[in-house]
Amino acid sequence: LFVDADLTPGTVVEAAPNQAHYLLNVLRMRQDSELLVFNGRDGEWRARLAASGKKSASLTLIEQTRPQPVLPDLHYCFAPLKKGRLDYLVQKAVEMGASALTPVITQHCQMHKPGIERLRANALEAAEQCGILAVPPVHAPVKFDRLIADWDPGRRLIFCDESAETHNPLTMLQALETDRLGLIVGPEGGFSDAERRALHALPFVTAIPLGPRILRADTAAVAALAVIQATIGDWR
Ligand code: SAM
Repeated sequence: LFVDADLTPGTVVEAAPNQAHYLLNVLRMRQDSELLVFNGRDGEWRARLAASGKKSASLTLIEQTRPQPVLPDLHYCFAPLKKGRLDYLVQKAVEMGASALTPVITQHCQMHKPGIERLRANALEAAEQCGILAVPPVHAPVKFDRLIADWDPGRRLIFCDESAETHNPLTMLQALETDRLGLIVGPEGGFSDAERRALHALPFVTAIPLGPRILRADTAAVAALAVIQATIGDWR
C-alpha cells in the first residue's frame, strides 16, 4: 500500500479514506493485522493496523523489509490512446519497468488532453500491484516537436518503427549499452512521415521493428518494453 509519509519505526500513518475502505471492507483486516507499505523512497516496510474506525485506519510502522530498489532509468513516451486503452497502456508500462512516462501529442494522436490525474492514479495502482516500491511520475503532455527539441542527447531513444528495416539484434544490444534510455511508440494512426523523418535524423535514436505485423500501439509498447527488459536483464 502506498503511504505518503516518511517511514521510520513506530511512526503512525493514517490510511486515506479509499485505502481504509480497501483494508477494512475488501481485505477485511482487523486490529493487529499486518501489511506491507511503501512511499517510493524508503523501501518496503512492514506495518500493523493499529486502530480503525468505520471509515478510518491507522497503521503503525514496524520495520523495513526491502531496501529501495534502483529502478531502470527508462523514460517511456507514448501517444495517448482513447481512455480505457490508455489506462491499460500506463499500467502495463509501469509493470514492465518504465521509470517515467510522458504523453506525446503527435500529428495523428487520438487524444490531445489525457487526464493526467487519472494516468497518475493508474501508475500508482500498477506500482502497488506489482510491488516495484516506486511510483513512476507521469509528466504533463508535450508536443512531439518539443519532446524531440528538449531531448537529452545522452539518453538513447528507442523508436518503435513498423517501417524500420529488419535489423541485426546487435543493434538493439548496442543501443541498450547505456543506463539512460527512452522509448517512443506512436498512436493508432502512426507517426506522420515528417515525425518519422525527424526521429530517424536524430543521432541518439535507434529505430527497431517489432516483427512484420502492424501491432496496436499498446501491444507495441508492451512488446518493446519486454524486449528492453529481457535484453538488459534485471537492473535492480
Ligand atoms: N502506421 C501503422 C499502420 O500503418 O497502421 C499504425 C501505427 S501502429 C497501430 C501504432 C504504433 O505502434 C506505431 O506508431 C509504432 O510505434 C508501433 N508499432 C506497431 N507495429 C510495429 C512494428 N511491427 N514494429 C515496430 N513498431 C510497431
